[in-house]
Amino acid sequence: MLARRAIVAAGTAAVAMAATRAPAQAQVTQPQGAQAQGAGAQGAGTQGGAARAGASGAQPGGDASPRPRAGDALLVVDVQNDFMPGGALAVPRGDEVVPVINRLAPAFRLAVLTQDWHVPGHSSFASSHPDRKPFDVLKLAYGNQVLWPDHCVQGTEGAALHRDLSVPHAQLVIRKGYNRDVDSYSAFIEADRKTRTGLDAWLKAKGVRRVFCCGLATDFCVAWTALDARRLGFEAIVVEDACRAIDLDGSLARAWDAMAKAGVGRVRAAAIA
Ligand SMILES: [Zn+2]
Repeated sequence: MLARRAIVAAGTAAVAMAATRAPAQAQVTQPQGAQAQGAGAQGAGTQGGAARAGASGAQPGGDASPRPRAGDALLVVDVQNDFMPGGALAVPRGDEVVPVINRLAPAFRLAVLTQDWHVPGHSSFASSHPDRKPFDVLKLAYGNQVLWPDHCVQGTEGAALHRDLSVPHAQLVIRKGYNRDVDSYSAFIEADRKTRTGLDAWLKAKGVRRVFCCGLATDFCVAWTALDARRLGFEAIVVEDACRAIDLDGSLARAWDAMAKAGVGRVRAAAIA
């Protein structure tokens, strides 16, 4: 129960960290089974409104085919050892995304990998703050920050990509969260909601208009990445069975609800490849 409460609190703070959005109320389980029943994604309206102004969306069943085409890119989010079962910040069944992503990836001419990539003593680590423990929430300069167990420290085995992940044609690896004092769930914009990783400019230089997001974890880094993609003018689709998360008290439903409001599409891998 203690861990459960702690993670719920963590999710709440994650929302607060970015004032205009609420995708990441907590973490996840397997997205494919859950439905976005609108378990109260506070703040999602603001985020959704901003995103709708930026792009037309790609809802399943709409006019956008999920078949990869020119102008598409696959974003493979944080498929790293520390997020695997047994890792420092494990996502249940996180390893199950690996074969799905391996099967998907060849369908995309452009693929980008991301890695959570923290310096030792990163401000998002509970161990960096006296008298704090993992999943506490602490107010930092940019807002409330969930404090995590130490994870994905630069150059460590925990930060390495899963050994079986096979996306050899990936052109770019975005490493995020390397600024000591700023976390980054999103592959596009760090938690201060100002600092860009450069991914949007890179994608636009490549002519990308639509991104497919997969990886870990659905209601943190995948959701924030997909929502920022919308905010930055891309169409965005989450490949639901190529993600895993930690569903606590409806957190997964809230994440899907926020993404749906923002016009993030949702498909299964079989529709793509
Ligand atoms: Zn991190």
